[in-house]
Amino acid sequence: MKLYPLFADLAGLPVLVVGGGSIARRKVEALLGADAQVTVGAPRLDEGLARMVEEGRVAWRCSEFAPTWLDGMWLAIAATDDRSINAAVAAAANQRRVLVNVVDDAELSRFHVPAVVDRSPLVVAISTAGAAPALARRVRETLEQVLDHALGALVALAQRHRHRIVRRRADLADRRAFYDWLHDGPVLSLLRRAQPQQAERILLDALHGDQAAPQAGSVTLVGAGPGHPGLLTLQALRVLNEADVILHDQLVGTEILAMARRDAERIDVGKRCGGRQVPQEQIHRLMLAHAREGRRVVRLKGGDPFVFGRGGEELAFLRRHGVACDVVPGITAAIACAAFAGIPLTHRDHAQSICLLTAHGKDATDTLDARMLARPRQTLAIYMGVERAEALTAQLLAHGRAADTPVAIIENGTLPQQRVITGTLDELPRLIRQHAVTTPALLIIGEVAAFAAEHAWSGEQYAEPEHAVSLPPAKVA
Ligand code: SAH
Repeated sequence: MKLYPLFADLAGLPVLVVGGGSIARRKVEALLGADAQVTVGAPRLDEGLARMVEEGRVAWRCSEFAPTWLDGMWLAIAATDDRSINAAVAAAANQRRVLVNVVDDAELSRFHVPAVVDRSPLVVAISTAGAAPALARRVRETLEQVLDHALGALVALAQRHRHRIVRRRADLADRRAFYDWLHDGPVLSLLRRAQPQQAERILLDALHGDQAAPQAGSVTLVGAGPGHPGLLTLQALRVLNEADVILHDQLVGTEILAMARRDAERIDVGKRCGGRQVPQEQIHRLMLAHAREGRRVVRLKGGDPFVFGRGGEELAFLRRHGVACDVVPGITAAIACAAFAGIPLTHRDHAQSICLLTAHGKDATDTLDARMLARPRQTLAIYMGVERAEALTAQLLAHGRAADTPVAIIENGTLPQQRVITGTLDELPRLIRQHAVTTPALLIIGEVAAFAAEHAWSGEQYAEPEHAVSLPPAKVA
């Protein structure tokens, strides 16, 4: 079957939908979205359709199907669950030269309704002529990921200035270069950042400048999440695919790097303990140098860039040097590790607050407020805490945190080699030694950590049977 693809302008045109159920409702919604004048025909309507009729948005023919319903229609959709009615609708429509679609019935259909990726005014329609709807859905899903949500605004902007662009860039090659810049450069990033006025100003500046628009460099600080490639955000994936240079930490795995643009230059600036260590100042210098050469730089960090990631320092440095920059958040280790270990970080009965802390570097344990951290009914999520676990445990115990407070150690959280080790606070240093815990590992201390023993659903679990921890009694109201 060969189909002729078309996009129809149905504004103000009468169209008919036969059927009163949820499928008919979805068809009616889509047609209303195109400003069609919709009549729905069915003896009974579902709640949503009935409401549309009440609100006067849709006309209703309340009876069994009659062929005369099609008189004067431009388009009809049969969405009943009775094939003989659907066939009757199709026959009546054909007789009157009204284009008809029968839901899930390619044979009876004169037109097909595609799967759609909507970035209006940009719309991508996908059809397999009814042969493989599941494949069409898959293609749609892929495109949903790839096509930036700011594209709609970009297309609308280009549409608004189309004549001016043609005038100012009369030479075809020149115009093509301008569009390449427009589709791929700073205008799109500004739209993504919800700065439409600035985007328009840059477009106009570039258009009125005489030379081809200069390529402005930029830096995006991107959170890669905890390691599992599926936990990368769509936005992170998109900027990785536009990057010229990627400066990444060691925590970012090869699977994630593999998703980035193939010809992007990848630079490992991972701060390793022991071996090679790139100082922060050098990372700053590298970002600056690449951006000043007009490159799109992605600074890719594990988890979230602003949670123990020095993202704040990098952003401040870049802004001080006048480099365009933005930030794509990532799922931080505490959120991800807790989820994969089955630990609810807050719980109505066990924890009303969460504290993310590190026992490392500038914030060594002695600067932390141990008295506050030792309070019960809160959850501590400790980053980079393995080395200082002994000192931290001693401080918490000294300030009155109960020795049998549940703890969980999550090593390589979200990755295939994830290990979850559970026990109590007093045995935390021993557990770390005994299980030879390596980095990266997150420590969770608090009543909710007990849930891990029961509910961890990913990776291997190591609970001490003789010290099986149990949940504290629920709060008495
Ligand atoms: N910006 C990152 C944290 C960087 S600090 C974030 O938001 O997650 C590095 C520390 O994060 C590690 O020492 C460890 O404590 C924790 N961490 C990061 N990824 C982890 C993972 N997959 N599993 C367990 N801990 C992790």
